[in-house]
Amino acid sequence: MVNLDDVKRARNEIAGMIHKTPVLTSSLLNGRTGNQIYLKSEHLQKTGSFKIRGAANAVKQAVKEGAEFITAASSGNHGQAVAYIADQLGVPAAIVVPEDANRAKVSAIEGYNGKVIYCGLTSAERIPKATQLAEENNGIYIPPYDHPHVIAGQGTLGLELLEQVADLDIIVVPIGGGGLISGILIAIKGINPDIRVIGVEPDTANDTYLSLANKHITAISRTSTIADGLRTSQPGQLTFPILQEYLDDLVLVTEEEIKEAFQFMLERTKQLVEPSGAAAVAAMLAGELGVHGKKIAIVLSGGNVDLKQIQTFLPE
Ligand SMILES: *Cc1c(COP(=O)(O)O)cnc(C)c1O
Repeated sequence: MVNLDDVKRARNEIAGMIHKTPVLTSSLLNGRTGNQIYLKSEHLQKTGSFKIRGAANAVKQAVKEGAEFITAASSGNHGQAVAYIADQLGVPAAIVVPEDANRAKVSAIEGYNGKVIYCGLTSAERIPKATQLAEENNGIYIPPYDHPHVIAGQGTLGLELLEQVADLDIIVVPIGGGGLISGILIAIKGINPDIRVIGVEPDTANDTYLSLANKHITAISRTSTIADGLRTSQPGQLTFPILQEYLDDLVLVTEEEIKEAFQFMLERTKQLVEPSGAAAVAAMLAGELGVHGKKIAIVLSGGNVDLKQIQTFLPE
């Protein structure tokens, strides 16, 4: 299992490749929720999401191991992060995206000099393609969450947060495949196990919630939450045991609650946070945590939004 030393090593490896993102506050949010809220702002991170932390650590290790080519299978934030980092390290990258990938995301990957390869409509088709391309080109395929270097990289967010905010009571984190929260759990529980770490999933993408309840990895069928970074159908082989061991609680939010949080962030705090990134705010605003007078960090995990879609992210 990934440990605290792996996360500390990752931090040294990726220092200088990523931003130390700011922690924002909002007195309105404090007033609304009755807590002191700290917004860890990964929407202001390079490439627009925390995914660059894991990508930087994993791609750097791959290059050290002799990889001459990097591949990933994601049209989203992971694909962008891997393309950007490979470009920074001077290694060619191919990013396999679905045939219906949205133009804005494809342009972002191309903007980082990643070669875009279209393949099928599901990750079951894309992953073998990305793996095969890596094999053919003396390269390494970088998965989005279920990889020790990716998890350790995401954990650097936890180390940073502990330095930025003293005496935290709770950290709230959105869950897709669980790479982000696994890394944070390892960092936080290794340093101060009294800090509670709470995960958030959309109620329509509750695979981790079901897996924890069933005590084994449980897959759900394709879902359509607006929080596209949280649509994963099941937690990972590596991430799930970490969640089972350390996670304090997991709360579910509705689509409408995510939309209200998206609107709140944009209208009130002037921050453009993508729906996945607003999920933890949604849990807070909806009172799902049931706490008052606490110091709470909320992870705003990303801010990549196709502006043409904004209308569909707003409440009815
Ligand atoms: C990938 C992603 C998540 C989920 O992270 P996991 O490591 O898959 O749990 C959350 N928010 C955003 C913006 C993402 O891109």
